[in-house]
Amino acid sequence: MKIEMSHGAGGKVMGELISEVILKNISKKSVNGGIGLNALDDGATIPLGDNEIVITTDGHTINPLFFPGGNIGRIAAAGAINDVSVMGAKPLAITNGMIIKEGFDIDDLDKIIKSMNETCEEVDVGVIAGDTKVMEQDKLDGLVMVTTCLGILQRGKAIKDSSLKVGDKIIVSGSVGDHGMSLMAFREGFNFETDLKSDVAPIWSIISRSLDIGGVTAMKDPTRGGLANTINEMAKKSGVGVMLQDDLIPVREEVRTISDMLGIDPYEVANEGKVVMGVKSENAYEILKAIKKDNYGHDAEIIGEVVKGSKVLIETQVGGTRILEAPIADPVPRVC
Ligand code: MG
Repeated sequence: MKIEMSHGAGGKVMGELISEVILKNISKKSVNGGIGLNALDDGATIPLGDNEIVITTDGHTINPLFFPGGNIGRIAAAGAINDVSVMGAKPLAITNGMIIKEGFDIDDLDKIIKSMNETCEEVDVGVIAGDTKVMEQDKLDGLVMVTTCLGILQRGKAIKDSSLKVGDKIIVSGSVGDHGMSLMAFREGFNFETDLKSDVAPIWSIISRSLDIGGVTAMKDPTRGGLANTINEMAKKSGVGVMLQDDLIPVREEVRTISDMLGIDPYEVANEGKVVMGVKSENAYEILKAIKKDNYGHDAEIIGEVVKGSKVLIETQVGGTRILEAPIADPVPRVC
């Protein structure tokens, strides 16, 4: 068997590769009793004294490198920062490894690094180590960046993606599908008809506001495979069902139009500046209000609740109910 594009596109196919080739060949998967590789959460933790270090790593192969709303530098920073943030940890620093194609424009690289830096500045994150390698013209497509983010939290306070409880409300911090659909529109060449941009952004401030209120039970960022993949993963790992309300899930008009044109479900494509949260019912409205005050959270909504069962269901506008399945793979390749 050979690697196919779907093996790197989130969803079921990638999940099988991870468990059958990666997990089974690694012997020590966690350290000091922290959250380890087996959890397949957004980040891992290492308990040390009164604290817990959170670490995550993220490779970036996005095509094209510059897209409406950002570039690979911004996504490389935000992607790793957000994976640490959704563990409930304050992100502290990233490292940045780059593999660059021979002949790559140095002015472009300058823009990419500036953008990575600006993204880190937004949440006071340092760029403290890196590596730079170059490959021959015909061996690589432009630029690959690999970022690792470190964060810290109080021991035992990590928030997993597997701890939803029946009765929790589900919050999404803004409109879904913006990143995947804007990238698709840009690649297909009809972005001139829309001003749709990627939502790529660091979301630590949204999470920090929510944690200050309390009652956050589970979190995950809906990247590859979108909301559909994320909420299914959270429900499955938590051993619960979820009931979502279709008319409460925020989707931009332009995203709907493009998704209708391309026949791609906006719930199945990547977001790069959003979080899906389970929160205790009694804290839900206060958390929602706090998120809406954030620059990146104006369109946040409570979109459903956790129920008994094992499926993610969506109640549609006409009153029917359908199952929202996890996609086999993100329908838009090389999206982050
Ligand atoms: Mg994640």
